[in-house]
Amino acid sequence: MNTITNVFGTDVFNDSVMKARLPKETYRQLQRTMKEGKHLDNAVANVVANAMKDWAVEKGATHFTHWFQPMTGITAEKHDSFITPTNDGRVILEFSGKELIQGEPDASSFPSGGLRATFEARGYTAWDPTSYAFIKDKTLCIPTAFCSYGGEALDKKTPLLRSMEAINRQAVRILKLFGDQNITSVKTTVGPEQEYFLVDKDLYDKRPDLIYTGRTLFGAKPPKGQELDDHYFGTIKSKVAAFMDDLNQSLWKLGVLAKTEHNEVAPAQHELAPIFTTTNIATDHNQLTMELMQRIAKKHGMICLLHEKPFAGVNGSGKHNNWSISTNTGKNLLEPGDTPHENAQFLLFLCAVIKAVDDYQDLLRISVASAGNDHRLGANEAPPAIVSMFLGTELTDILDSIEKGEQYGTKEKELWKVGVHILPRFPKDTTDRNRTSPFAFTGNKFEFRMLGSSDSIACTNMMLNTAVAESLRQFADVLENATDFNETLHDLIQDTIKKHKRIIFNGNGYDESWVQEAEKRGLLNLKTTPDCLPYYINEKNIKLLTEHKVLTETEIHARYEIILDNYSKTLNIEAVTMLDMAKKDLLPAFSAYTKQLSDTLLAKKEAAPGVDCSYEEEQIKKVSGLCGSMYQKTKGLEESLMALVHREYDELEKAKYYRTEVFQAMNDLRIVADEIENVMDRKLYPYPNYGDLLFGVR
Ligand code: ADP
Ligand code: MG
Repeated sequence: MNTITNVFGTDVFNDSVMKARLPKETYRQLQRTMKEGKHLDNAVANVVANAMKDWAVEKGATHFTHWFQPMTGITAEKHDSFITPTNDGRVILEFSGKELIQGEPDASSFPSGGLRATFEARGYTAWDPTSYAFIKDKTLCIPTAFCSYGGEALDKKTPLLRSMEAINRQAVRILKLFGDQNITSVKTTVGPEQEYFLVDKDLYDKRPDLIYTGRTLFGAKPPKGQELDDHYFGTIKSKVAAFMDDLNQSLWKLGVLAKTEHNEVAPAQHELAPIFTTTNIATDHNQLTMELMQRIAKKHGMICLLHEKPFAGVNGSGKHNNWSISTNTGKNLLEPGDTPHENAQFLLFLCAVIKAVDDYQDLLRISVASAGNDHRLGANEAPPAIVSMFLGTELTDILDSIEKGEQYGTKEKELWKVGVHILPRFPKDTTDRNRTSPFAFTGNKFEFRMLGSSDSIACTNMMLNTAVAESLRQFADVLENATDFNETLHDLIQDTIKKHKRIIFNGNGYDESWVQEAEKRGLLNLKTTPDCLPYYINEKNIKLLTEHKVLTETEIHARYEIILDNYSKTLNIEAVTMLDMAKKDLLPAFSAYTKQLSDTLLAKKEAAPGVDCSYEEEQIKKVSGLCGSMYQKTKGLEESLMALVHREYDELEKAKYYRTEVFQAMNDLRIVADEIENVMDRKLYPYPNYGDLLFGVR
């Protein structure tokens, strides 16, 4: 029977498969590797690899691959079959421990930001035993980290794993001080809510902009958009429901905890949320989810758009990174507790996050920086580019009273002292209905909402884990030397609130007045990718990332270059695509439209002299005028690109140039083209229009 429970995890080499298929001792050693990072010796690795291969082959797999996450933001795989020739001309199937543990993809073409000179082109992939192997498309996929021969991280996963170690180290120091001897490790947990659009594949195939850039570069607003809010949580169309079902089944097989699905605000927009899990697994799973969404949509005659802003005028797509910290004993450290002791601990961790977000606003902003996401942040639909935190009035009031040393609540008579009094219980659902905050406390976790829909969640969580690790490190340094623990703890919390309360904002993040208020508070407002990237390489941030051994200085510089390079290249592709569309399709179509009008006008004049030809005459004038203007804008865009060819720019200057000159020229061109679309014969417009695309899936 194909029930969910039977299907779930069937394509995953998970714990129950390991237990069933590995000799007891091998299983025990592998567990130690997974849980404690202990080295797996070759003999054991051989046994594990062989068991994996047998299991995969029984399930129809023919190949294996080291599945990794290079700096492109998507996943990479190179398949090798299991076959090994024998002396008598046949083959046997083999998979060795060495092949499991390490691979050498010829990886010279992945972005490395100059880390890997071409003469040492090979990077290597190393098994990440903390994330289960799985079967996808008849291929056994081994989750791996990807490094250069010098050991520099060339991927998104390596620094994420390092950041999890960093926060583990510091959080355990703190927890020891609170005296819970059973807690030996902590892990951060994440549940990423994923937004996406679905459009009809036949229509998509007719739009070069969607094909080359993932977003529409032209297109006038349809008569109806999202103004009626009738799509949000609306009934799911049967075609979309069939896609969702297929997607869920596939995700469940891969052990992804797909849980919630619904229609989103914009027409054709939807969301999927899994149940949260350990951060590095959540990262792998989110990559798989995005990949499967795109693949499965095609099977259903649709295309899944993961771009942050596929359509102007309706909401773009983001990703909400729900984040918390949990201990090996299953305790959520961001869950307010029942006893004064637990509450003091909760407040300390809460303060660690507040301090981290305030101190490293820039790194959080950088972690979501991309050309696509720049369209959302600050565009009145997503959280603004200013990083601030929402705590809800109740929790903010509590922090206020701690700061002022006042009592909280009517019942409490004595002065508030951490570790002495009990936090009032606040119902979870009163803590968050503010959807405009970039970083909201939602009862027992934080929800970071600035991520773009196509982002890997690795970078954000790497920054967040490391920033919080730094707060905890500073706290632990103070508390470990305290003579009176409770007193010192109280002062530490009070002091942190005083210093960092400027980051707390419970109001409307979309409001213009917030921009001014934030400026007064000294918060950063880094609107675009080129605006925020320089902060990556400032002293404070290099210190943070290197001291916690998350990135080396070389790796930071490489990442800085890669992101800027990707930004400029993305804008370049968009600009070139616009020129291509304008010159080869749109201008000819608009011109043909004036010919059609002119032919009609002449015919009318000949057939019935003196008849009213005002429509044709005025339209010819109007459209010809607009066409002329569009032609000039096309040339303008072309010139802005040409100017780049003749000058030397460093990566930052280049990105800035794209952001100002090229981006402006693109906008100018689009405005005229869309204006013509609005007045012309629908049949002559060369592409499916916004109405078709947004309402085309029926
Ligand atoms: P929303 O109101 O935003 O829809 P939900 O309660 O549905 O909130 O949760 C959204 C996401 O948060 C889900 O993916 C859920 O699994 C995740 N989540 C819940 N608890 C935690 C936690 N402790 N750590 C990380 N993510 C969590
Ligand atoms: Mg949410």
